[in-house]
Amino acid sequence: MLAACRVCARPEPELLHASMLEQTLTSESKLRRGRLKIHLCANCAHVMSDEGGFDDVAGYYGAEYDSLLDSPEADDLYDLDANLQPVYRSQIQLQNLVRLANLPAKGRLLDFGCGKGAFLSRFQRQYPGWELHGCDVSERYRPFVEPLTGPGRFAVTSLEQAEAPGSGFDLVTLFFVAEHLVEPAGTLARIAALLGPTGLLYLTVPNVMTNTIDAFLADHLSHFSALSLAALVHRAGLRPLVVSEHHQLGQITLMAAPDPSTAARPPARLGGDLVDACAAAIRTAVARWVECGARLEAFLRRRPRGHGALAVYGAGVFGSYLTLAAGPAREAIACYLDQSPFKAGKAHLGRPVVHPREIPADVSDVLVGLNPGRAHDILAQAGLLHRAGLRFFFP
Ligand SMILES: [Zn+2]
Repeated sequence: MLAACRVCARPEPELLHASMLEQTLTSESKLRRGRLKIHLCANCAHVMSDEGGFDDVAGYYGAEYDSLLDSPEADDLYDLDANLQPVYRSQIQLQNLVRLANLPAKGRLLDFGCGKGAFLSRFQRQYPGWELHGCDVSERYRPFVEPLTGPGRFAVTSLEQAEAPGSGFDLVTLFFVAEHLVEPAGTLARIAALLGPTGLLYLTVPNVMTNTIDAFLADHLSHFSALSLAALVHRAGLRPLVVSEHHQLGQITLMAAPDPSTAARPPARLGGDLVDACAAAIRTAVARWVECGARLEAFLRRRPRGHGALAVYGAGVFGSYLTLAAGPAREAIACYLDQSPFKAGKAHLGRPVVHPREIPADVSDVLVGLNPGRAHDILAQAGLLHRAGLRFFFP
């Protein structure tokens, strides 16, 4: 049981869901031993996974969390555009930053959770006068990052203890990091202390309100709403300048500046109509995904004997969630279909990943493991939506 909210410290968050499954899903779309519990804080509209679903945080990032080290671009791939050309996350983060902040020609940047340095590399091309620093959870990133930053400007840090090379930064960036933090309030306060007096924090996290499946990812210990993210940065002594749910679908973009007076405001009583509305929407969304599991079980049970093969469209978190929810029936999955150039031809959860245009002729049932808001468009783009002989399960 989670004792208190990770953002506002209000005790005894509400238990929304306790999974009966003995496996959980990670943000890398892998299945892992554990039992997921999802909690909601009705004071700040923050959703949290129990660490019980994820009991050895340090061991996971040290050994398992690979971020596709074999391919420098794969984990940075965000989407395919209308012409099926890759769009990279780091490209979007930089574009949004350039629009939001009027950065000077010189300065010092720390990318906290820099991975293999995809953002640092793009930033350097746009702002060649800046001194770059990076940190992440594993030494394995050093050979990728130090060629960009120069020696001694990459540090290994843990998710419990923020450690950085230096302080007095003009810009600190955290892209999809805060949701992994064990104690986000304490860690963010330490990160805020690394900023110079006119420095900026620029941060992105998944938005649990528009990307509701995020609540089921066990390594995302926090699932932010715009309200809970704003509450978190206030507690860290920062004043939000921009909190946007619209810069990028499914994520929250935040820019904040140091303002120690904000930390003095007690977060104990937030609440209000907006928080209540968010909390109600989250309860509905989590219940919907749980109910999707029951519908899927019925769909698979009703497949006629001798029917063709079963495929899952999407070798990402949605496809993996359906695989997890299928229980023992997942043995019947013959392959995954995915348009990503980094996935087709590889294996996912023990099955081959096939490009949709090479869908095996015997496939008759397709579980649609895609964001429900985009599923029809993606299937139509892949030429499958109206293909004769295919039966779809939509989450
Ligand atoms: Zn809270």
